[in-house]
Amino acid sequence: MEPFENLVDTLKKFPSLGPKSARRVAFYLLRQDNNELERIGSLISNLRKGLVTCSQCGNISSKDPCHICTDPLRDRNILCVVEDVESLSVFEQAGIYNGLYHVIGEKIFDGLSDKSSDSLAKHIIQLKPDEVIIATSPRLEGDISYYTIIDVIKGLGVKNITRLAYGLPLGGSIEFADRMTLHTALEGRRKV
Ligand SMILES: [Zn+2]
Repeated sequence: MEPFENLVDTLKKFPSLGPKSARRVAFYLLRQDNNELERIGSLISNLRKGLVTCSQCGNISSKDPCHICTDPLRDRNILCVVEDVESLSVFEQAGIYNGLYHVIGEKIFDGLSDKSSDSLAKHIIQLKPDEVIIATSPRLEGDISYYTIIDVIKGLGVKNITRLAYGLPLGGSIEFADRMTLHTALEGRRKV
């Protein structure tokens, strides 16, 4: 049973999988035929292959620029600034937003790095959106991320800088927001 126990140990490290559910997933896999196991295995081993970071928005995609930046049906007048690709994915899954994104790509506690600031400024200058929505997760301590993003945007000629109305639990993360909460936060966004 050693390979099985190794698998359980690996699965235990997955988000939201405790020891019991890791074991349940391992038994589920054990019940699959070899073709299915190979299919699942190759999905995992090829996960990074063919994925690139979009040079415009920072999203992860199979092409650069990504499918969102090149989608002619998206509203190019609104840019939503999120911390990471997971947050972008939460917005997309909720299906409540049709503008473009900018992914900071790092968790920001002590301000933005020069690279992140430059990339955000470059994107805004190039896109010239009417509105930039700051959609970073609300934090308890000072919310430095929010103010450093404002610092970058101010002076770039954006008409409306807005922030999500929270709704979202303080100290909580956009990753865990349900669709309704996110929708309310987006609809109730306020000018800053
Ligand atoms: Zn993109």
